[in-house]
Parts: sequence; structure tokens; C-alpha cells
Amino acid sequence: MTTHREPLDSVLETVGETPLVRVHDSPDEVPVYAKVETFNPGASVKDRIGKYMLERMLERGDLPEGGTIVEPTAGNTGIGFAVAAGQLGVDAVFVVPERFSVEKQQLMRALGADVVNTPTEDGMDGAIERAHELAAELDDAVVPQQFSNPLNPEAHYETTGPEIYEALDGDVGAIVIGCGTAGTLMGVARYAREQHPDTHVVAVEPEGSLYAETKGEDVPEEEYKIEGIGTHDPTTNELFDPELVDEIVQVADRAAHDELKRLAREEGHLVASSAGAASVAARGTAERIADGELDVPGDAVVTLFPDSSERYLSKDIYGSFTEWEG
Ligand code: PMP
Repeated sequence: MTTHREPLDSVLETVGETPLVRVHDSPDEVPVYAKVETFNPGASVKDRIGKYMLERMLERGDLPEGGTIVEPTAGNTGIGFAVAAGQLGVDAVFVVPERFSVEKQQLMRALGADVVNTPTEDGMDGAIERAHELAAELDDAVVPQQFSNPLNPEAHYETTGPEIYEALDGDVGAIVIGCGTAGTLMGVARYAREQHPDTHVVAVEPEGSLYAETKGEDVPEEEYKIEGIGTHDPTTNELFDPELVDEIVQVADRAAHDELKRLAREEGHLVASSAGAASVAARGTAERIADGELDVPGDAVVTLFPDSSERYLSKDIYGSFTEWEG
């Protein structure tokens, strides 16, 4: 693993090579490890796709030098793209529905990007539509489209997956990761299945989300507070491939919230609700392996903590559950 002790030329060189840290409240014989993505310069997993996708798009000529990207995003992707765009001489415009965290929008602007808000009631679809309109009005503008661009999972197939296997000398039994676009899970799972075809792959989503329908489950659709994972219409998450997933675990808002507080208090991680959900599901998977309910081809259960709780302090993320606004 790169240690970054040598002097670096650009902050982009600090993207990835994040630490893999033991989650202690799990069975001794089935260790749970979390890839802690808050160590990226923009403090989330999305720095990986920001760097990888923009570099590839420039190399391939899909994005002209000095061009503009216009991306609809709830936040972390905007920050990840903004970090990379600034260093690669690309302009960035992000279209963000009003309801999303103000901290994230402030950080995108601080990194030199323009932020355009769309009405909350128009949802993510409204933001997507506006992004395409804006891109059509600007010269040399491209919409990277993280929800459908194969470069998104490819970034994780090329970086996150190999880093996990290198750190654990390949001794991995299960991968348990939350799905928003599903880019992270799809890239890591494809790499994992190549290392061992029986690696157990778990997709994590909030209770109320509908990825479970892709496995033929009849689940109720409800609002949820966990941010960054889940879908209300799996047909729009084009990257998600149910064939690469053994099971989908749903986590309740309250369980994710209790766990993100426990992760801070007991394990020193300042991570947010999607990390809380992933940790609950990963620890549950480890318990089932320890009880002999699941047979897996290696020792460790690996999960991933996507972003930092500092980004949600205005939503009182460490307050009581009823105060907590997702
Ligand atoms: N957690 C958070 C906080 C996120 O912002 C995202 C991205 N939407 C994810 C998890 C899920 O990552 P992916 O889009 O790669 O599935």
C-alpha cells in the first residue's frame, strides 16, 4: 500500500489507497474490515470516480481539454468531481435538488464549481433533466452520468477491489457494500468474483428502498433517512446487476443511526448513515458465517464507509433519532 510519505505533486495523488480498518464488535473468527473512504481528499468514496472518470474521459477525447462537466448530484459526487476537475483544468457545474445538505453545496463552491439548485419536489429526475438542458446550452459540455456510465464501476474494479485484496492477502469471504448508483459494489464485486467465484456478495439498502425487487422480493416502498444509498426505481440504476449479488440486506434508519453513533463512540470513526447501514449488514453477515449459516471462501467480511458525519452536522446527525433528519 502506498504510504504517501513521499512528497506529492497534487492532491489527486492522495485519492484512493485508503486504510482498511477492523470493525471490532464482530466475531473473532470472522473479522469485519471497513475500507474507510473518509481518508480521500474530498472525504468520500466519490473522489475515486471523480479522478478516474475525468482522466479516462479526457484521455479518450470524450471530454475536450478545458471543457465543462455538468452533473446532477446529491453532493459527494459533486465534491469528488470538483476536486478532480479543478486539478485537470475542467470547469464543473452541479445540479443539486434543494433538499440536500448545505455543507456539500458549500464545499462544491469552495472547490471552484458552480451549483444550480432545482426544486425539491422535482426530485433527482428534475436535476437530471436540468443538467442535460444546461449541457446543451454550453460549449464543450458533457454530462458524465454516474448512474449509467460504466467508468463508475470500472474505477472500483481497478482501485478499490485490488486494494482490499492486497491488504488481506486475498483472504476475503464476503463483500457487504451499500448501493446508490451501485458503482462501488459492482466494481468491487466483479473483482472479488474473479478472485473467487463463490465470494458472497451482499448489497445493502435502506428499508423502504426497492433494490430488493430485482431479486424478486416484494418489499414496501417507504421514505427513508439514510443518505446516499437506495432507490425508488431500480430500473433507473442501470449499473446494478442482480446476477453479481447473492442477497440484498435492508437496514432500518434507526439501526443505521444507532450504529453510526456506536462507530464514533466505540471505534473512533466519524462516518455517516450509509456507513452505519453497511456496518450493521456486515456485522450481521459475519455472525451468520460464524454460526455456520453461510459458507464462504475466505475469512474476512469486507465493508466500506463512504463518507464523513461532519457533512451532516447541520442535520443533527448525532442528535436523538427523532431529531435526525436524513
Ligand atoms: N454513501 C454515500 C454517502 C453516498 O453519497 C453514496 C453515493 N450515492 C453511496 C454511499 C453509494 O455509492 P455508489 O453510488 O457507488 O453505490
